[in-house]
Amino acid sequence: MEKVTIFWFRRDLRLEDNTALNYALKESNPVLPIFIFDRNILDKLEDKDDARVTFLQRTIAEINEKLKTLGSGLRTFYSTPKEAFRDILETYDVKSVFTNRDYEPYALERDEQIETLLKSKGIGFYTFKDHVIFEKEEIVSGSGGFYKVFTPYSRAWLAKFKAAAPPQFGNHLQESNWFTCNNPKVHALEEMGFEPTSIKLPSSDVNEQLIRHYAEKRNIPSIEGTSRLGLHLRFGTLSIRALAHKSAGLSGTFLNELIWRDFYAMILANNQHVADRAFKPQYDAIPWRKDEEGFDKWCKGKTGYPIVDAGMRQLNQTGFMHNRVRMITASFLTKHLLIDWRWGEAYFAKKLLDFDLASNNGGWQWAAGTGTDAQPYFRVFNPQSQTEKFDPELKYIKKWVPEYGTNLYPQPIVEHKFARLRAIDTYKEALGK
Ligand SMILES: Cc1cc2nc3c(=O)[nH]c(=O)nc-3n(C[C@H](O)[C@H](O)[C@H](O)COP(=O)(O)OP(=O)(O)OC[C@H]3O[C@@H](n4cnc5c(N)ncnc54)[C@H](O)[C@@H]3O)c2cc1C
Repeated sequence: MEKVTIFWFRRDLRLEDNTALNYALKESNPVLPIFIFDRNILDKLEDKDDARVTFLQRTIAEINEKLKTLGSGLRTFYSTPKEAFRDILETYDVKSVFTNRDYEPYALERDEQIETLLKSKGIGFYTFKDHVIFEKEEIVSGSGGFYKVFTPYSRAWLAKFKAAAPPQFGNHLQESNWFTCNNPKVHALEEMGFEPTSIKLPSSDVNEQLIRHYAEKRNIPSIEGTSRLGLHLRFGTLSIRALAHKSAGLSGTFLNELIWRDFYAMILANNQHVADRAFKPQYDAIPWRKDEEGFDKWCKGKTGYPIVDAGMRQLNQTGFMHNRVRMITASFLTKHLLIDWRWGEAYFAKKLLDFDLASNNGGWQWAAGTGTDAQPYFRVFNPQSQTEKFDPELKYIKKWVPEYGTNLYPQPIVEHKFARLRAIDTYKEALGK
């Protein structure tokens, strides 16, 4: 049996500046790169043309092609991680397994199981920080606990970043002929019951000009003022370290958004309960309305509130929604319709190309007021004034809601003033204020 070090790709799909891969390549055995198309995740996806699966499969196939130029390749598995590792252990003499850390509840449980399996055979399981700049215990407040409020967290984050930014590792293809894989294999989409998406997938190129002008343009949904890099950060096709270093010199406002990403990853890592409950437990008492009809209208972009409908239609058609409009649509669902933030969170999770549990959960709990450093419960976005501020010429609305202004466009599903007072009263009562 061939002696190997395994490098397990997960949400770090690149051959440059990859922490665990860098360390795996320093081991004394050749490195076998693997990827598991995880049936625990894939079997739950409803859309057979899910764009994230297309992206994942294409990216893995590209990595395989690059490795083939070294006479090596990649092995993929279409199974559960446990089954995949049982398979691997029967075929190879595995010396150790290297991988980058993932902080989502499912990932933590999966890694614990795999680590136990490997340890029972005397095989080391080594994990590394790669997905964030600073992990859950690296930025702590004066009293030693984790920060619950963003602004002081971001100040401490910046100070640490300026003092000692995490190192970057070069191109692993150039530095090594140390990969092995005698029988490269990448599963095709069809083999896994999926089909290619028709959605256009954004590029991972970092547009410096855009980042320079980010502060002025980021809040206008009708223009391409944001990077669209979310998908690449989510799957690690772009290194967060490289992006943070590059953007630090271009735009403090952009870097601040990357700090939000670290903040929410830190909140999830330290508070696994947020994945299905309110960060602030007293908010679990809110009696959400089980309004399936209202929810369906919201999903389809037929609420009669044009900015909300435009956002939902952009999401449904492209897998993307502008951040400003994510805030408006999320606020509308949780406050105007008083529908459980978890319903909206799950819908976004299904549709967003850049879906990331920590940031999605953070965004939803912020809008619903249930999160850490969230929008106060009594602040209810007014869709009309948000439109006047951020889409004054209705360019965004007219793009996504072409029938707006005609009698085909629906009447508002609920009256704004009534909904606002209902939300405030309901929250007040549930919170005992
Ligand atoms: C209800 C709601 C749900 C959200 N769900 C997600 C999600 O599933 N995945 C996700 O990555 N972001 C999410 N966000 C945050 C933000 O809307 C997106 O990151 C951003 O719109 C992605 O577009 P972009 O790549 O052009 O971002 P840019 O504006 O160009 O920002 C660059 C990167 O910074 C990070 N970032 C920016 N804003 C935030 C933020 N507020 N919180 C955390 N990270 C941020 C992202 O990684 C983003 O790609 C959500 C926000 C809200 C209000």
